[in-house]
Amino acid sequence: MRMTVETGHLQLAPCAVCSGSGWEVVEGKGIRPCACRLTERRDQLLEAARIPRRYENCSLENYHPQGMGSGKHFVAQARALVDAKHLVDEFPGIEIGLLFMGPCGVGKTHLASAITHALVTRKGVSCLFYDFRDLLKEIQDSYNPVSKSSELRVLRPVYDTEVLVLDELGASKPTDWVRDTMTQIINNRYNDKKITIFTTNYLDDPQNPGEETLSDRVGVRLRSRLHEMCKIVQVTGDDYREKIKDNRGRKFS
Ligand code: ADP
Ligand code: MG
Repeated sequence: MRMTVETGHLQLAPCAVCSGSGWEVVEGKGIRPCACRLTERRDQLLEAARIPRRYENCSLENYHPQGMGSGKHFVAQARALVDAKHLVDEFPGIEIGLLFMGPCGVGKTHLASAITHALVTRKGVSCLFYDFRDLLKEIQDSYNPVSKSSELRVLRPVYDTEVLVLDELGASKPTDWVRDTMTQIINNRYNDKKITIFTTNYLDDPQNPGEETLSDRVGVRLRSRLHEMCKIVQVTGDDYREKIKDNRGRKFS
């Protein structure tokens, strides 16, 4: 059993009830989050999770599937919301994460942020949110040419956190270094059986000819690993940002 709660950034003293595992065994009922996770640790965990400010108020409750009632976009978004809620409700009793796949503005980052927020506040789970491009940049910046390695200061929390969100998978130019680093991070999470949530704008079967696929961006092997460690959630629809702009325009016209 782990003796400290891994928060990604913080090492907190172990709790007397759960010895730092964060989960309390209730006889005959299974396990539930220990009370220690839900009190003073919550604020620290929320800060350590690094949800981008733009998304800090995104919740599962304020994600409203868009589109016509029974139309395919509405159905896809409603299903994505169900998958997001299911992950939060069932954690830690789940084996795989989620890969939200779809065009810009359909709420992929909203849902990933909302899951992070809910896991921290409802269950006291340690989470870490990263735009994958920023993470790669931080790793690159921490590279030490003498030791020929990147500082574990950046990577350790990414490996240790209970739930990791990697937003914008495939958005970085796929150089050999980018592919190797992505593979190292994702394989590490996979080997430790840790839950990772991804978002990507790249599809397996793009609608328009000539558009790059997820395999083009991350490689065939990594794509297949992602399919193994995540449920693929296709989110379709129109760009919500455009909709907000249109509504603003209408108000003032
Ligand atoms: P994506 O990551 O798919 O490009 P975002 O999650 O960034 O899209 O969504 C863009 C903006 O629209 C965000 O402010 C988000 O909160 C909002 N948004 C998108 N879809 C919905 C929705 N179905 N309900 C409420 N807000 C939404
Ligand atoms: Mg996004």
